[in-house]
Amino acid sequence: TDHVEQLEFQAETHQLLELMIHSVYSNKDTFLRELISNASDALDKLRLESFRDKDLEVDTSDLHIELAVDTENRILTVRDNGIGMSRDEVIDLIGTLAKSGTAELRKQLLDGKSDAAAEELIGQFGIGFYSTFMVADQVTLTTRRAGEATATRWESSAGSSGYTIETLQDAPQGTSVSLRLKPADPEDHLFDYTQEWKLREIVKKYSDFIAWPVRMQVERTVTEGTGEDAEEKTIIEDQTLNSQKALWTRPRSEVSEDEYKEFYKHVSHAWDDPLEIIPMKAEGTFEYQALLFLPSSAPFDLFTREHKRGVQLYVRRVFIMDNCEELMPEYLRFVKGVVDAQDLSLNVSREILQQDRQIQMIRKRLVRKVLSTIKDLQNAGRAEDGDKTKYQTFWAEFGRVLKEGLLSDFDNRETILQVSSFASTHSTEELTTLAEYLERLPEGHDKIYYMTGESRQQIENSPHLEAFRAKGLEVLVLTDPVDEMWVGSVTEFEGKQFQSIAKGEVDLETEEEKKSSEQLREQQEKDFGDVLKWLQQALDESVKEVRLSSRLTTSPACVVGDVFDFTPQLERMYRASGQ
Ligand code: ADP
Ligand code: MG
Repeated sequence: TDHVEQLEFQAETHQLLELMIHSVYSNKDTFLRELISNASDALDKLRLESFRDKDLEVDTSDLHIELAVDTENRILTVRDNGIGMSRDEVIDLIGTLAKSGTAELRKQLLDGKSDAAAEELIGQFGIGFYSTFMVADQVTLTTRRAGEATATRWESSAGSSGYTIETLQDAPQGTSVSLRLKPADPEDHLFDYTQEWKLREIVKKYSDFIAWPVRMQVERTVTEGTGEDAEEKTIIEDQTLNSQKALWTRPRSEVSEDEYKEFYKHVSHAWDDPLEIIPMKAEGTFEYQALLFLPSSAPFDLFTREHKRGVQLYVRRVFIMDNCEELMPEYLRFVKGVVDAQDLSLNVSREILQQDRQIQMIRKRLVRKVLSTIKDLQNAGRAEDGDKTKYQTFWAEFGRVLKEGLLSDFDNRETILQVSSFASTHSTEELTTLAEYLERLPEGHDKIYYMTGESRQQIENSPHLEAFRAKGLEVLVLTDPVDEMWVGSVTEFEGKQFQSIAKGEVDLETEEEKKSSEQLREQQEKDFGDVLKWLQQALDESVKEVRLSSRLTTSPACVVGDVFDFTPQLERMYRASGQ
């Protein structure tokens, strides 16, 4: 007789629930994909924990997922004997919208989006567990964490502003989620989810590759005996609905695009389709298989520390860890997927991984493969009949992250520069590659000119740009914070030096122009000698030197940094950080 506690949802959670309950989202079947995906994660976690913690008393001999239907009461239950959740975890994970990826969704919901926009948000962000409220008017979750004695029951009904939570003394280990289904309504894309064929169809479509068996009790008619004595009988038996075939072990030609997409949604917890699918296979000394994905949109936490997920490590089909940082450098943290290594121990730890030569080799190849895939997208964008949008989408979403690699990955620096795009004074709409920049560079010039700043407008208003504009020389317009960092350490591309137009003596003239301007300069120096001397004295405290410049055309004067000085942007950054 434990008492039932009534807790309130956070305002945003409540709002999200309301959205789910009234959703006209056309793909309601996805609720089952989410529940099975969660169950599968929970089974992975349990197997892992039982490896690591020998004292954990759990039976891992028959890990599975089970669907059960109570047709009369219209209740569908999804059960797993995985890791389960403690009471605190239930409140944390289920009771609140803790997922960092949903922070933006939350904000947008609070901003009062229209219904249509909200529908779109579901597809974009995904809503995991809460998607159950698209099909159910009451959801009950019962769970017992492996190793714990008591269990927890969580329940919420459509329309209520909170949920109840209660401690149970007795429940099987793992989690079961029971949905009281709304009546089927074809008008509302709502099927009868008590129907065996429908459940079969959804599992096949969305969860076929799940490594654990998804079972259901089904009725089957069998004929017993022969001839005169033959008798038809209905028996009830357990059937496994999914093939459990790891997708990455199957040849690309045998896997459909849709299967890849569904797998992507499972591993990355995404609701939208991937931009690009990258299957890999290596035999020989370091045997491994990998299935990587470039997402089509950046998660909102890409630049925060909490960002996890990324690439999962498997060893011979067994899940080992999420977000295996040893396999993918920081600057490719947006890449999702799995890597399945043959020759690692199942007990492998992060410490061991960091030292492991095999992992280092695999990582090298994954990085090269990802970069070459990006290059392929870029080439396709240039080809007559190629896909123009993929590379553009990629760059808009992940370019800023990829450029971090210019600072950390020396081996691939040239490739990263090749696949990068930049805004420039050549066009206000289209970005340019460095190769294209060099093609346009006029005879007699051999520098890649750039300017960093906070915005395009700030750069365009800068007096530094005048001489370049007057000469028709193109300047790269670099406005990402990361640009400020890499221009400090990347000196050249294909033998051509990067040159900030805000630093040092910028030599804009060809040899011939120099001769004629030298005479002009001598004359000017005589003419303005006194003024310069006077300015130098007056500004002695603030500047190193006052000199005549050829870089200005309409502004009378500008302040420039020395070659080894910080750029104005970096100077501001340092000042802002109090250095
Ligand atoms: P996500 O799976 O993207 O994290 P969900 O809303 O689907 O988001 O689930 C939230 C969290 O609740 C999960 O991350 C997990 O920690 C926990 N959870 C959900 N279902 C289960 C389950 N069947 N067993 C154990 N934990 C679960
Ligand atoms: Mg989930």
